[in-house]
Amino acid sequence: MEKSAASPIASSIAPDDWVARSLRAVWHPCTQMKHHERLPLVPIARGQGAWLYDRTNHRYLDAISSWWVNLFGHANPRINAALKDQLDTLEHAMLAGCTHEPAVELAERLGALTGNTLGHAFFASDGASAVEIALKMSFHTWRNQGFADKQEFVCIANSYHGETIGALGVTDVALFKDAYDPLIRHAHVVASPDARLAQAGETAADVARRALDHVRSLFEARAAKIAALIVEPLVQCAAGMAMHDASYLAGLRALCDQYGVHLIADEIAVGCGRTGTFFACEQAGIWPDFLCLSKGISGGYLPLSIVLSRDEIFAAFYHDDTARGFLHSHSYTGNPLACRAALATLDLFASDDVLASNARKSAKLRTALAPLAAHPQVRNLRQCGTIFAFDAVIDDPQHAKTFSRRFFANALQRELLLRPISTTVYLMPPYILDDEELALLASRAHESFEATLAEAR
Ligand SMILES: *Cc1c(COP(=O)(O)O)cnc(C)c1O
Repeated sequence: MEKSAASPIASSIAPDDWVARSLRAVWHPCTQMKHHERLPLVPIARGQGAWLYDRTNHRYLDAISSWWVNLFGHANPRINAALKDQLDTLEHAMLAGCTHEPAVELAERLGALTGNTLGHAFFASDGASAVEIALKMSFHTWRNQGFADKQEFVCIANSYHGETIGALGVTDVALFKDAYDPLIRHAHVVASPDARLAQAGETAADVARRALDHVRSLFEARAAKIAALIVEPLVQCAAGMAMHDASYLAGLRALCDQYGVHLIADEIAVGCGRTGTFFACEQAGIWPDFLCLSKGISGGYLPLSIVLSRDEIFAAFYHDDTARGFLHSHSYTGNPLACRAALATLDLFASDDVLASNARKSAKLRTALAPLAAHPQVRNLRQCGTIFAFDAVIDDPQHAKTFSRRFFANALQRELLLRPISTTVYLMPPYILDDEELALLASRAHESFEATLAEAR
């Protein structure tokens, strides 16, 4: 190995220039760092409501909820107050051998939201860990029940479940997966129920039915080896906001029951009201065997994830023998501050009739987006709850390749924080936009789109 290759980043950086220092010292996530030679980082100094402010006090509407986590705005007074109170009471204590009220109350309240079907909460700190926990728990449940051969998993085409090595095994997005392929234990991949796959005369429910046929054939051939199927209910977000009919989930539940396969619902992105109900699964009238939550559950304040599971799962581990227990832990399991932020978030849902208010706001946004929907270079303008997306029609492959970064820059100039996924533009705003902000979001998104197209002319 070379002894000391010089850093490609200039070392003469003014001490007060923390943006330039960031490029040298902070390795940013999901980023080709070299792109930042031309694309400046946005130096966020503070947040208030739906807005982020940079160090020169320019404002940006956080129209993607800071990677889908923020529900009730930045510096929300009620979440802040809860956290300040918790900070003066207990910042953290380990959750092995000890317990604390915020974890107990959060587990109970989430269980109650599932009608106590999923009454056992296992805590972790991020979404990928929750997915790993659900996979391990499923496999270990079967083994404890005498079905040690059930070791395989099934995921849906274009699924995204996180980027740790285990989670990548059930992720089907080439960009995140290809480089690490040799490290990965691959899952079976079944057809996507993406409603955009409808052929002439087909409905979204027809696409779902076809996709379910694929699951059925796989289960018929291999169910004895399969532990679980994992799905992102209603919207495959990272795939580019691919939406499907709720009947797909009901069909999966029936097939999993028939063939003895666990159903894992990854509601990390779609939970907490995003799709119009608190849990996306409610729209299909089903409950999974494992439900993963993260992102919005702490209001976008602190890393927290939770895997909820059924009595039968919990019972499969309950035994005198230590080795039959679920042997998994993270240092910050059940962090009280994060749990308290989550409780404050649930309080907001309980007191403010959030789901009804979201439905009204989304209807307004939908109307405001009508001119974009009619644009000749816009396809598939779609909506699920508070998630909106459309596909840009860009013929030149070179322009398509740079579309996302160029759109991001154009949106920033118009006070919007938006990061398209490839050529899919999506809006996933926090739940607190007022009428003026909703109108601004729609019109500035349209302007940003026009500006990005104009660069290609
Ligand atoms: C974001 C996300 C994850 C991973 O969560 P991290 O906290 O980023 O590890 C997993 N599944 C889905 C559906 C997600 O959107």
